[in-house]
Amino acid sequence: MREVINPADGSVIARVPDATGEDVRKAVGKAREAFDEGPWPKLPGRERGTVLFKIAEAIRANAAAFAEADTRNMGKPIVEAEFDVADAAHCFEYYGGLASKIHGETLEVPDNALSMVVREPVGVVGQIIPWNYPLLMAAWKLAPALAAGCTTVLKPAEQTPMSALMLGDLLKTLDLPDGVVSIVTGDGPVAGGTLVTDPRVDKIAFTGGVDTGRLVIKGAADTIKRMSIELGGKNPNVVFADADFDAAVDGALFGAFANQGEVCSAGSRLLVERPIYSRMLEALVEKTRRIRVGDPLDRETKMGPLVTREHQEKVLGYIDVGRREGRLIAGGGTPRDPALSKGFFVEPTIFADVDNRARIAQEEIFGPVLVVIPFDGEADGVRIANDTPYGLAGAVWTRDVFRGIRVLKQIRAGILWLNTYHPTYNEAPWGGYKQSGFGRELGPYGLEHYLETKQINLNLSEAPIGWY
Ligand code: NAD
Repeated sequence: MREVINPADGSVIARVPDATGEDVRKAVGKAREAFDEGPWPKLPGRERGTVLFKIAEAIRANAAAFAEADTRNMGKPIVEAEFDVADAAHCFEYYGGLASKIHGETLEVPDNALSMVVREPVGVVGQIIPWNYPLLMAAWKLAPALAAGCTTVLKPAEQTPMSALMLGDLLKTLDLPDGVVSIVTGDGPVAGGTLVTDPRVDKIAFTGGVDTGRLVIKGAADTIKRMSIELGGKNPNVVFADADFDAAVDGALFGAFANQGEVCSAGSRLLVERPIYSRMLEALVEKTRRIRVGDPLDRETKMGPLVTREHQEKVLGYIDVGRREGRLIAGGGTPRDPALSKGFFVEPTIFADVDNRARIAQEEIFGPVLVVIPFDGEADGVRIANDTPYGLAGAVWTRDVFRGIRVLKQIRAGILWLNTYHPTYNEAPWGGYKQSGFGRELGPYGLEHYLETKQINLNLSEAPIGWY
């Protein structure tokens, strides 16, 4: 068994199974059987859709319990957790609707033939998710897979299994045939690694860090699995001098510190055009002082603890690096409030005057650490924005809409915002360029990765066949 810890005070909140390779292989066997022999992949899409609607309804009916589970397990403020739960329910609804709209096409081809293109579920999928949005990441994975008719084994992050296990229990009460969804809790290399290498798994959908992503891609290559890979980011939030200043300040802080900065798409690099640079630093410092760090179950809290002691230490280590690489203007340690001493808290921290080649500007810290970099004009802003191995997300702030679009088109990233930061829509494709991964989740694009494409050619002619 594995202990599950509340990061707000270090207490043990549960013990969950630590799956062995054999446990995972059993779950894969059940998923294989459910796919090859069960009714699920053959059901009309609208019937699968109905099940997804029921899942959405059940999540909503248990919304408070799900939100509390994610907050107690992961440390995110309860208000953010409530938002995640609503979003997760809508994700099932969205794909519930799409399930009845999966269709192929017919193609005009030579030889008096008709070519039919049909879409079929990819098969058994192994789904591996991170700890930062425990329920929402499970929804992003399960909903399109189920809509497509796949069967799945989902592995939550070892730190945050609670809401996925709750969801698993809830699914047992609905009309899902046995083996369609299994949730296995356990260690990354053992439980995740077994999913990646098992030849009975047709596809891996992975979200996590770039180093783990490399291992997953290599491991899945041996059996030529289909893959969709969502990795990290070091995302540029680019503020031009003509931007709505107050909105840009709020967007910079929300972009960097929402969910304690433990967000793949966090605006962790703030690029500020020189004429407003000093004023921006002052405003950031002033507002950061007022961000309330504390008990994540308190509705007034804006930032909770980081997910684990180990992660807190990693982030504090980066803050030490930052002291040599930039000018610390806010935060820089753990909160002084003795009531928080047992939790894994880190203050919202800002470094100014950072060179974009510095480690704190290049490496994903995945915590509440914002680096601020000045730039001079459009070309310089674009150059710095793109000077990163990642390409997940980013934003531009300007009142000149033509410049906004021009710059956004030049940023090599998959998710971009103009004059806002972070809104994420189940309807729109989510995923990265460059080392932020490949494939897209959400929207109709998210369904594509769970579908195979088959051509069936119908001979309509009576002419002789071949030349023998
Ligand atoms: P992680 O890479 O450590 O773990 C992710 C998952 O992979 C976990 O379930 C883990 O148990 C599993 N895993 C670990 N080693 C494995 C192995 N050898 N084989 C198979 N699975 C293995 O990531 P994390 O720390 O849980 O999450 C943070 C990372 O996730 C950040 O880099 C963040 O940017 C990224 N992320 C990306 C997105 C996105 O949509 N692009 C969304 C959320 C998080």
